[in-house]
Amino acid sequence: MSDKGFGVPCDECGTILREFRDALQRDEKELKDRLHQTANASGRAPDEMRLMWVSSVANAPTDEMHAIIRAQYPRIADLRQKQAEHESRAGHSVFRDGWQTMNMPYEELLKVMRVLSSIR
Ligand SMILES: [Zn+2]
Repeated sequence: MSDKGFGVPCDECGTILREFRDALQRDEKELKDRLHQTANASGRAPDEMRLMWVSSVANAPTDEMHAIIRAQYPRIADLRQKQAEHESRAGHSVFRDGWQTMNMPYEELLKVMRVLSSIR
């Protein structure tokens, strides 16, 4: 089972990938909780609050938008650093070599990649 096309299963890649997924889930939950609290405090529905947040982000200038999104995912920057270090040292690709190792469902991998690509 050494098909190069599917990368090399690597435990460290798998660990970093799992940390990415967990960090995204925690950060998203915190954002949701925060919006929920703000909604309660201001007497708005959580959905309304979420829409307001999304449209304020969407209407911000591009630089500011990236900064806002980055701020919502405080754990990602450290992990990116870790990813870059491992990838340059081992010559791996965390996404290619990690998801097989940890048996992550493909949809979950896509979601992580989608969020990461929106954070600059
Ligand atoms: Zn690796």
